[in-house]
Amino acid sequence: TPLSPETEAMIARRKALLGPAYRLFYQKPLHLVRGKGVWLYDVEDTAYLDAYNNVTSIGHCNSHVVEAIARQAGTLATNTRYLHGSILDYSARLLATMPPEIEHLMFTCTGSEANDLALRIARTFTGGTGIIVTETAYHGITLAVSEFSPSLGEKVDLGCHVRTVPAPDSYRSEDVAAEFEKNVRSAIADLKRHGIKPAMFICDGIFSSDGVFDGPTGFLKGAVEAVREAGGLYVADEVQSGFGRTGDAMWGFQRHGVVPDIVTMGKPMGNGYPVAGVAARHAVLEEFGRNGRYFNTFGGNAVAMAAAHAVLDVIENDGLMANARAVGAYLREGIRALQPDYPLIGDVRGAGLFIGVEIVGNPLARTPDAALTSAIVNQMRDEQVLISACAKAANVLKIRPPLIFTRENADFFISKLSLVLSRLS
Ligand code: PMP
Repeated sequence: TPLSPETEAMIARRKALLGPAYRLFYQKPLHLVRGKGVWLYDVEDTAYLDAYNNVTSIGHCNSHVVEAIARQAGTLATNTRYLHGSILDYSARLLATMPPEIEHLMFTCTGSEANDLALRIARTFTGGTGIIVTETAYHGITLAVSEFSPSLGEKVDLGCHVRTVPAPDSYRSEDVAAEFEKNVRSAIADLKRHGIKPAMFICDGIFSSDGVFDGPTGFLKGAVEAVREAGGLYVADEVQSGFGRTGDAMWGFQRHGVVPDIVTMGKPMGNGYPVAGVAARHAVLEEFGRNGRYFNTFGGNAVAMAAAHAVLDVIENDGLMANARAVGAYLREGIRALQPDYPLIGDVRGAGLFIGVEIVGNPLARTPDAALTSAIVNQMRDEQVLISACAKAANVLKIRPPLIFTRENADFFISKLSLVLSRLS
């Protein structure tokens, strides 16, 4: 069905006003006007099951967070140049969820800024400039960070100090740990050949944009050792995998069994209010702190801290990590149960409520099928379920519902997926 004249007009107006760099989701873009819990509502008040949004990770418009933001905005909105108790209480609370080696927390407004700051810290500490990332990684939009975000597109130049390694593809590799370590070692060797000292290896806790690779547990160890031997740091980007999403731990890196030197976070930290941060070991921050002052006008402001505190309240009080673990496993099992009928489902993987479903044209050869993946995403949207796709070959369904997802929501999801697959098979 064609787009309505209203939708066409709004798209044209958007292009005229916002320019050519923005992209919309779906062949039939959505015009959303409100959200509640796991549901989003369009301009006609049609409800869509949100199985994709990990910013409002504890549910859309969570009243505890909304009230905390409103209360603080009506009391005091200042920055980190004044003493304020809430930023200290929050930092103590957040750092308590991390390994004891990670002692400090600094605040930014976006994940991109957090990764940009991590790079500055890593450069100061190591004296190096080299960066190793995975082939389809996304780390953000600043100039420095876009140079190590290959998923921005082939036409965006990676820096000459950046090396990419293939994703840890557990679906195709016999020994992910050994292969990943070998690739990281060759990247380090290539940097050295060009006279570049590594500053950092940065990876997403669950390799989100590479195609959602959660395991096997501990597979990062060898790669991180190689980076450290070469004098570089391990930066864990928890912007997508943090705050309980993976179900079995608060942080995605915890499944890898290595303590990072720097951890960056953002997205779900304020459930929609811009809050992001960089946590680091003391030794790593020492020289950076000596050399310059750090001030981020909005980073760590009093309202941001109120939002962030409220998010942790809800994750803890409502047992959302346990829910992510249980409902995530239930949802993966439900999708796996469709595999015998639909061999185009090549692999179902993930942890907690972060799920990747690999779509293949030929299941024996495991051939990625991007066209089929896109058709599934768009038909799911027509069935009022929101997901997207990721991976180098754009053939992995990325399913990332709010942590409050219930078994009933999962059943609804599976029934719609089954319907869409039956149509496309
Ligand atoms: N790192 C990862 C892994 C991300 O997914 C994103 C955002 N998609 C970022 C960093 C950048 O965060 P922001 O958009 O808040 O700048």
